[in-house]
Amino acid sequence: GIGSASFAKDDEMSRLDLFIARMVSQRACLNHAAQLTADISGPVFELGLGNGRTYHHMCEIMPEQDIYVFERAIASHPDSTPPDDRVLLGDVFETLPLALTRFGATARLIHADLGGHNAQKNDEFARRVSPLIEPLLADGGLMVSSDRMYFETLTQIALPQDAIEGRCFIYRR
Ligand code: SAM
Repeated sequence: GIGSASFAKDDEMSRLDLFIARMVSQRACLNHAAQLTADISGPVFELGLGNGRTYHHMCEIMPEQDIYVFERAIASHPDSTPPDDRVLLGDVFETLPLALTRFGATARLIHADLGGHNAQKNDEFARRVSPLIEPLLADGGLMVSSDRMYFETLTQIALPQDAIEGRCFIYRR
């Protein structure tokens, strides 16, 4: 396991502790959410491609699924670069409303890792983006986030064993 980091408070964790906790939690939550939504056939959305590590993992665990990536500037590892027709390029405040028109409430799983290093900015961002994400999920669909979200109709569900409280959040429609 990752040892004492699991029990340390945020302000007692080094940046390395926080990073490791986020990575471990992303993997645990994505595996869990993919399993729980196995019977939903709708698309999967990755919000924030970055290096493409979580996108690559999602492709590995949901090979049958169409995975669409929302990113303002593609700069991922070559192994983890989505095909052009699976990219919604631009700011999520513009592309999420377009996705609602295009897909409706059909998403099986939405993963968001859009944050940077400033916790307060991430929280403000999460408040603003939550209402744009909320209507995209299918019934029973799940949203996995590295930030606490502000949904009106989704229910927060328990984390899987390996995930670390406060480092990730899972919501169900
Ligand atoms: N989960 C990724 C991985 O495993 O490699 C890392 C994602 S990285 C922390 C966040 C990404 O979100 C960045 O690539 C950034 O460009 C993107 N992003 C942040 N805000 C965005 C916005 N408003 N619209 C589109 N993309 C955004």
